[in-house]
Amino acid sequence: METHAPQYYFSFRCLGGGCPHTCCAAGWEIPVDPATATLYETLPPPLGDRVRAFWTIDPEGSPCFPLRGGSCPFLNGEGLCHIHIALGEEATPLICRTHPRFCYEYGSLRERGLCASCPEAVRLILEEDMTFHVSQEAGLEEEAPPLLSPLLTARETALSLLTAEGATLGQRLQAVLLFSNEVQVLLDEDRAEDLLSLCRFYREEFPLLEPAALPRRSPVLKKYLGLLEGLVILRPHWKELLKARKARSAGAAPLPSHMGERTAAYFLYRHWLRGVWDGDVLTWAEFAVLGTAVAASLSPLHPEGFPEVFRLLCEELEHSEENLTAIQDFLWEKGSLPELLALAAV
Ligand code: SF4
Repeated sequence: METHAPQYYFSFRCLGGGCPHTCCAAGWEIPVDPATATLYETLPPPLGDRVRAFWTIDPEGSPCFPLRGGSCPFLNGEGLCHIHIALGEEATPLICRTHPRFCYEYGSLRERGLCASCPEAVRLILEEDMTFHVSQEAGLEEEAPPLLSPLLTARETALSLLTAEGATLGQRLQAVLLFSNEVQVLLDEDRAEDLLSLCRFYREEFPLLEPAALPRRSPVLKKYLGLLEGLVILRPHWKELLKARKARSAGAAPLPSHMGERTAAYFLYRHWLRGVWDGDVLTWAEFAVLGTAVAASLSPLHPEGFPEVFRLLCEELEHSEENLTAIQDFLWEKGSLPELLALAAV
């Protein structure tokens, strides 16, 4: 099975006890997969008794470790895991062994990546431009969905627009939106066969907009901060950050171009191919711009700056399918391309 991964994927090493924002205290319950649950059922005391005393069954009927004071009950004072120390990593739940890695399958293609809710993943994502490692892995290969090949080519074009020479970050983000909008028109008209020539055109012609044609950025930013404020919130601190930014009238702080382009590339890589299943790519291009613009606008309010705000944003939005669906619905029903183009001018 063909497998893609960004090169930085292979450099990831968990920071363990040195992690400044450990995922073991991120406010998520820890799901226990069936194989690990079977192991825990027969684990001898005293650790076995402790494990069995802590776990519970979630509303979907699956075992999990509920949080204790916002953290996994097995997190010790040094930021390390009791189960890992006693029995090794292989005895921890699957999620603990795989986080922050994600893996999506699209019939004949598997894509791996690192989730930016982890500070070490954020460091790697922002450290270098995204390049891909392509390999063959074992796996049950299914037929390629019809939109896979055209949307892969289109994503490649969208990513190339993010690194176009001689353009500002804002112009690159706007170019991605304009291109994605045209991709969406072709998909909606059932003309996927015309995507190749559209990609060719955008690789030769970089579109530039008249700033005067766009709505004012400040009210647009407030509107989209309001959207994020109304979602499921994991940490009250995140909501306070959104509120504080909404109350300030200043424009967005300048964001170093390479950080903005790598952030947007991360979102495009992770979400664009969802369109293979539902034919919607414009939403995910808009989400990439929204995420980049919001993180840039909040970063002056956070002592740890842009990388930490980017991480918080991913923790809040990407770990909740409910939040992602709410954003997709909002962008479908109430999003406007001119507004998103204005937002893109970071
Ligand atoms: S957030 Fe990342 S670096 Fe920190 S403990 Fe979790 S996996 Fe390790």
